[in-house]
Amino acid sequence: MQISLLQTPVEYLKGVGPIRAELLKKELNVHTFEDLLYQFPFKHIDRSEIIRIKDIKSDAAYIQVKGIIRDMREIGAKRTTRLTAILSDNSGSVELVWFQGIRWAREKIKPNTVYLVFGKPTIFNNRFNIAHPEIEPIEETKIVAGEPLQPFYNSTEKLKSKGLHSKGIARILRNLIERVKGYIPETLSDALLEEQKLMRREEALLSIHFPADTYKLALARYRLKFEELFFNQLPMLSERKQRKLKTQGHRFTQIGEVFNTFYHNYLPFELTNAQKRVLREIRTDTGSGIQMNRLLQGDVGSGKTVVALMTMLMAIDNGYQACMMAPTEILATQHYDTLSRLLKDMDIQVELLTGSTKTTKRNEISEALQNGELKILIGTHALIEDAVQFNNLGMVIIDEQHRFGVAQRARLWEKNIIPPHVLVMTATPIPRTLAMTLYGDLDYSVIDELPPGRKPVKTIHLNDSQRLRLFGFMKQQIKEGRQIYIVYPLIQESETLDLKHLMDGYDSIVREFPLPEYAVSIVHGQMKSANKDFEMQRFVKGETQIMVATTVIEVGVDVANASVMVIENAERFGLSQLHQLRGRVGRGADQSYCILMTGYKLTSDARTRISTMVNTNDGFEIASVDLNLRGPGELQGTRQSGIIEFKIADLAKDGSILQLARAAAEKIIEMDPELQREENDMIKEYLKYLSSQKMNWGKIS
Ligand code: ADP
Ligand code: MG
Repeated sequence: MQISLLQTPVEYLKGVGPIRAELLKKELNVHTFEDLLYQFPFKHIDRSEIIRIKDIKSDAAYIQVKGIIRDMREIGAKRTTRLTAILSDNSGSVELVWFQGIRWAREKIKPNTVYLVFGKPTIFNNRFNIAHPEIEPIEETKIVAGEPLQPFYNSTEKLKSKGLHSKGIARILRNLIERVKGYIPETLSDALLEEQKLMRREEALLSIHFPADTYKLALARYRLKFEELFFNQLPMLSERKQRKLKTQGHRFTQIGEVFNTFYHNYLPFELTNAQKRVLREIRTDTGSGIQMNRLLQGDVGSGKTVVALMTMLMAIDNGYQACMMAPTEILATQHYDTLSRLLKDMDIQVELLTGSTKTTKRNEISEALQNGELKILIGTHALIEDAVQFNNLGMVIIDEQHRFGVAQRARLWEKNIIPPHVLVMTATPIPRTLAMTLYGDLDYSVIDELPPGRKPVKTIHLNDSQRLRLFGFMKQQIKEGRQIYIVYPLIQESETLDLKHLMDGYDSIVREFPLPEYAVSIVHGQMKSANKDFEMQRFVKGETQIMVATTVIEVGVDVANASVMVIENAERFGLSQLHQLRGRVGRGADQSYCILMTGYKLTSDARTRISTMVNTNDGFEIASVDLNLRGPGELQGTRQSGIIEFKIADLAKDGSILQLARAAAEKIIEMDPELQREENDMIKEYLKYLSSQKMNWGKIS
């Protein structure tokens, strides 16, 4: 395969050589011809359009004008010297200015000659001028006649110092393309190209740099995005398919008495349509004889717990045990309490296993698990330990996915000879596009509807000078019997300083809200777990009205009577964290509030985050703003999954291409799971190549 030509070290390209090659490696991670070919321009500028000087109307965009140079002069003394020239066409004139490279400009630019001038106008002294324009005598411009869209490349100071500014990079790319033209292998099958109306790879890779027109450029970008996303999805879908082919699953043949009794007699509310739909999806999976691996996304408060419970009841009806794993002891305990309450009138044993479960209790649980009496076990990481042996585990629920890694998930599989079904639940909304790329090997369900009758949380932004208003409001809420969270961020990167920040806050709250009228709890990461629980419990029981905390309470805690969430230094939090925190209130019948306290001056990103919070309660909308602000690599819940970096695809914008690419990949995997058909040879080959690249990468970095 001609991949080898593309693997030629970039040093051997005309116009590069050892010094530039070294820099290209260091600065842009460009090692080979192929790497260079994949340095896509970040924009193109249309050089085919020439406007009349009179029509320069804005300083917003680059423009191109044609005219005669006149009246060149140097102005100002030594340090402030600048060179100006007047460019005129028959509609008017505009001043050109150089602050640097004056000697070069003086030598190169000849008065009374026609030039093509390209640059960005600025307004100075109420008139437009163009500083440091690109300027070429009109005859020479014919060279780029076939190249009306000029590519712009990222460069660095070091590269620029060796002549590899944007234009220099374009120059070596032109050499490269001359060299590799005719040798760029296709990676997609003819059938796929035809079906998806895709430009061929070679044409796309040439056109992305030097397109004939904007239409060609768009086709090229589309093709390359499609290819990138297609090859992102294909391995995951293939893995999923292999697993389904090879991994048998427990077949739940029936919805039985336990499920029905709960549903008809004890379910305290009507399920939302979204909850019903998800249960049907789970029912289909578990009835198929194939192991279920499903991701369930639902915003905070959307009612995932009861779906989890009913899923576990399906397992019990079919003679299996079920377990549910939560990331913290507080959460596990809370799930245990909730489920025990919901099941209290049914004859189903539920137990809790955490790090602090006493040995006697542990032994009891262990025995009941092994003889199969114990049907539902809730717990923390403690569940993964080898000592925990089930009689016949059929269903595993994992709550709050982003705290658990894939490896931990896998260990739960091993708890039965045939792996149990797995339902992963997350309350960190991830835009669907991101979910598909991160958890592409999982099937996907979403609860996109909140239970009826919820009053949306009101979100208010206050700055530090409005603190008295805040205190007044808090007092009034407490008088009405409500409870309040005050959350501090971790900011200083030093635990001691963070703690001091929190303690200062706590002191000022205690001063403002003194005993015996008020009681204040405090919880932070450096407290012993027993003390943390004790303080938490005081708040849960309503013995304290205010809970001062760091983000340890971020996940899952449920105190229905808490109706106010105050977030200090809210500008320091990411959007998804703010949304999680806000989700702690609004769980009861009362109107709830989220108050974002910030300093006076905010960066533009911080302002966007705060205003997004004030304007919407929709977790998915918030997640997409977050994706736009930060890019996929930084989103919460994505970190341990490995950062996905795309060369051209943009998950925030290319959701629909992703969907098409995924569907196409799915179809191929369905028809040809091992990619054995001749028509899929190229795809298979390229896939192999990509995974070998990835391995090399691992070694390098
Ligand atoms: P989350 O998805 O954040 O885990 P929970 O399962 O804790 O949400 O549910 C939040 C609250 O909504 C709980 O108090 C639960 O009892 C209640 N709830 C769940 N489903 C419904 C429903 N269909 N109708 C009314 N209330 C519901
Ligand atoms: Mg929950």
